[in-house]
Amino acid sequence: MNFKGHVTGGVVTGVAVTTSAMVLSGPVGIPAPPLVLAQVFAVTVFFSLFPDLDISSVPQRWFFRAIFLTLLVLSYYGYYEEATLLALVAISPLLDHHRSWTHNVLSVWIFPFILACIYEYILTKDRFFTSWSLENVTTHLLDNLWLVVACIFGWYTHLLLDSLKRFRKFKLHP
Ligand SMILES: [Zn+2]
Repeated sequence: MNFKGHVTGGVVTGVAVTTSAMVLSGPVGIPAPPLVLAQVFAVTVFFSLFPDLDISSVPQRWFFRAIFLTLLVLSYYGYYEEATLLALVAISPLLDHHRSWTHNVLSVWIFPFILACIYEYILTKDRFFTSWSLENVTTHLLDNLWLVVACIFGWYTHLLLDSLKRFRKFKLHP
């Protein structure tokens, strides 16, 4: 699937996930104020494009320009924890070759968990050996449940669209 297809898929899933978060926030009991809803949409679209950032392309260059600016803004306002997390997320697709871990269905579940573990490490780094706890990691995940859901659905949208293309190719060239 090309970049345009993934953007379209990401936006459609983003609207669906944002609407679901808005409707379900009451019954589930996890609030989704307008700022969180905007983040849910952005995170869904981001992760629907994220897996293909492991290959050099024009969208990848624009992505890193946007990350560069965002890191400058975050550090200017003193959001160092968020800046560290964003930097780690942004370089992670480049850790291996194209279509490696970013295109693995298990990564979708492990990645938010690892991020929550790192976030807990950043918060407790001065007293890492005494304060780091799996319970706090679970709390981070639950506190940001809508963003975790957005990450999972956005990422799966990408993998689904990639597999559809492969399926079509398979049918054309058995
Ligand atoms: Zn892909």
